Amino acid sequence: MIALFPGSFDPVTLGHIDILNRATKTFDQIIVAVLCNSSKAPLFTIEERVGMLKETTKDIPGVQVESYVGIHAEFAKKRGVRHILRGVRTAADCGYEIPMAQANKQLAEDIETIILVSAPAYGYMSSGLIREIAITGYASGFDDIVLDQWVPPAVKDMLRSKLLD
Ligand code: ADP
Repeated sequence: MIALFPGSFDPVTLGHIDILNRATKTFDQIIVAVLCNSSKAPLFTIEERVGMLKETTKDIPGVQVESYVGIHAEFAKKRGVRHILRGVRTAADCGYEIPMAQANKQLAEDIETIILVSAPAYGYMSSGLIREIAITGYASGFDDIVLDQWVPPAVKDMLRSKLLD
């Protein structure tokens, strides 16, 4: 079975990696798709996010990384993929993910959205929060060892060079 895991991944967090690791127990292949959503101003370019995903998922079997502009269901249909993988952390996430899953169902009846609940350790962790902490932290000269609990080492390196250089 193949799944599409779409998202912004700006940046990749240990929460994303946990969802991927757990989903490989159900899916043989997972296409991680960096979707360019014009309503959000990203910190990392699409190419940088594809690069960081390739680096941080290289040891997870069956994962491939791509980028796409458009609607999840349309991309999944085009690729012949029948499962969309998403993660939820909170009830607020459900308020966003459930209507999106229903809209995708309306667009492509054959496609099922599979939602995994975040592990307790990652329940509060979002790319937005990490971006905020990294931007503020590097601007005020913090000890970036704190980032180790939230992002893979390659992502920390990319945050450091993006925000310090
Ligand atoms: P999007 O902008 O599409 O929400 P994100 O990169 O923020 O993209 O998230 C991609 C998917 O991963 C979403 O389904 C999101 O809910 C899920 N996700 C993000 N962070 C976590 C986390 N810490 N634990 C579990 N799932 C997460």
